[in-house]
Amino acid sequence: MSNEAQCYCGSELDFQECCEKYILGYETAPSALSLMKSRYAAYATQNVAYLMKTTQDATRRFYSQDEILKWATENQWKRLEIIHFSETIVAFKAHFLDSQKRMQIHSEKSVFVKEDGHWFYVEGFELD
Ligand SMILES: [Zn+2]
Repeated sequence: MSNEAQCYCGSELDFQECCEKYILGYETAPSALSLMKSRYAAYATQNVAYLMKTTQDATRRFYSQDEILKWATENQWKRLEIIHFSETIVAFKAHFLDSQKRMQIHSEKSVFVKEDGHWFYVEGFELD
């Protein structure tokens, strides 16, 4: 990763100045939106450990680490589009190339919860 690389989340900041500091654990994501963006960047950089760490304990057992890794690595994550967000909800479209190099869009409304000062991903619903 070069120093000039822009962050995957579309912020136009350097990756190091943006989501990487959350992924590496230097700082805690201050909002559901920033956590969501950093999780997208974790998909783009195939950081499954961060994806697991930021999934709420109660739901983590439903998410297989292997499946997350497969989903993260099979696809090339191209662009994140935030549709709308509130304190605990982020609706987004993730544009990616699948393993057949077809452009795909994953649309999701994600729910987050704050526990002990940390935001966690709880669950996601398909957008209409
Ligand atoms: Zn970012």
